Amino acid sequence: MEKHITVLPGDGIGPEIIAEAVKVLDRIGERYGHSFRYTYVDIGGCSIDKYGVPITEEGMELCKSADSVLLGAVGGPKWDDCPAEIRPEKALLGVRKALGLFANLRPTKLFPQLAETSPLKIEIVGGGIDLLIVRELTGGVYFGGHSTEEKDGELVATDIMPYSEHEIERIGRVAFETAMKRRKRLASVDKANVLDTSRLWRKVMHRLAAEYPEVQYSDVLVDNTAMQMIRNPAQFDVLVTENMFGDILSDEASMLTGSIGMMPSASLSEGTLGMYEPIHGSAPDIAGQNLANPLGTILSAAMMLRYSFDMAEEADAIEQAVNEVLNQGYRTGDILQEGCKKVSCSEMGDLVTAQIG
Ligand code: NAD
Repeated sequence: MEKHITVLPGDGIGPEIIAEAVKVLDRIGERYGHSFRYTYVDIGGCSIDKYGVPITEEGMELCKSADSVLLGAVGGPKWDDCPAEIRPEKALLGVRKALGLFANLRPTKLFPQLAETSPLKIEIVGGGIDLLIVRELTGGVYFGGHSTEEKDGELVATDIMPYSEHEIERIGRVAFETAMKRRKRLASVDKANVLDTSRLWRKVMHRLAAEYPEVQYSDVLVDNTAMQMIRNPAQFDVLVTENMFGDILSDEASMLTGSIGMMPSASLSEGTLGMYEPIHGSAPDIAGQNLANPLGTILSAAMMLRYSFDMAEEADAIEQAVNEVLNQGYRTGDILQEGCKKVSCSEMGDLVTAQIG
C-alpha cells in the first residue's frame, strides 16, 4: 500500500519526536511492504517566523489532500505574546476545522512496567490501565453562543450548549465501532439528571446500543465517572462523552499514567483522514537536547495505521515493540525508574525500530 502522510513537526521537541516516529514508520513500511511518502509542512511558531502565519494556505491544502496527518507539537515562550489571530494554537484549530475532525480518541494506557510512575497506589494500578476516551470535538458549549450583558445593574454571562441528534449519533457510532475493536465495553458519560443535551445524548446512545448487541453498554454520570476513574480505572474500556466533559476527563485520565510523554491521540473525520499527535506540548524546557520521550508520538503513528490505514497488524507490531523495549528496562528521563537504563530520544526510537525487526 502507498500512503501519503503530511508531517507537521512544529516547535520545541516536535521535530525530535517526529523524527523517531518516522523512523519507526519506515521500518514498518520495509517489513510489511508499504510505502509511506512524507510531505513536511511548517506549523506553529516556526511558521510564524518564516511566513507570518501559524500555517500557510498551501500547508493547509497539503493536510487536506493527505491520507493522514502526523503532528508533533506547537508553541513556546517565544510566541506567547503573538496577537490572538496568529498564535500557534490557531493553526491546530484551523486544521481540525478544515479536516472536519469531530472525534478525538485518547487512549490511556499504563504499561504495568510503569505502574510506579502513576500517582495512584500500586494496589489500584498494578495490573495496568487500558481505557480509551472518545470525545466529541466540534459541538457543545465550546461552539454554542457566548454572551455577556448587563442586566439589573450587574453583568450576566451566558454560554449555550447545543447538540443535535446527528452530531451525537456520529460520535456514538465511532465509540461503538471502537469498542467492537477492543474489549466490547462502552460507558456513555453524561449529566442526564440535569441537562437536556444529556437526555438527548442518552436517547441516541440507547438507539445505537440496540444496533450493537455485542457491546456491553452503560450510562454513567460525569461526576461519578470522575470519581470511578480514580477509584478503579481498570473497570473502563471505552468511554464516550461530549466535548467539555471529554476535555476534562481526558486530562484526568492522562494523569493516571504519570507520564505525559507516553500518551498518543487521534482526531478523526467522517472519512479515513485523521490527525495523530501526542497529547503533550512542545516542552521548551528540554527542546533540542535529545531528552524527550518519543513514545507518545510513536504510539500516535500506530493509531494512524490502525484507524486511517486499516493496518491493525502493523499497529500491533509497534505497540508490542514499545512494550518489549520497556520490558527490557529502557527509559527516557521522564519515566526513569531505579535499576533501568536511561536512553535519549533518538536511542529510544532506534530501540523500538530494531524491535520491529
Ligand atoms: P508541555 O506538555 O510542553 O510540558 C509539560 C512538562 O512535561 C514539561 O516539563 C515537559 O518537559 C514535559 N514533557 C512534555 N512532553 C514530554 C516528552 N515527550 N518527554 C519528556 N517530557 C515531556 O506543556 P507546557 O509546558 O504547558 O507547554 C509548552 C508549550 O506547548 C506551550 O507553548 C503550550 O501552549 C504548547 N502546547 C502545545 C500543545 C500541542 O501542540 N498540541 C499541547 C499543549 C501545550
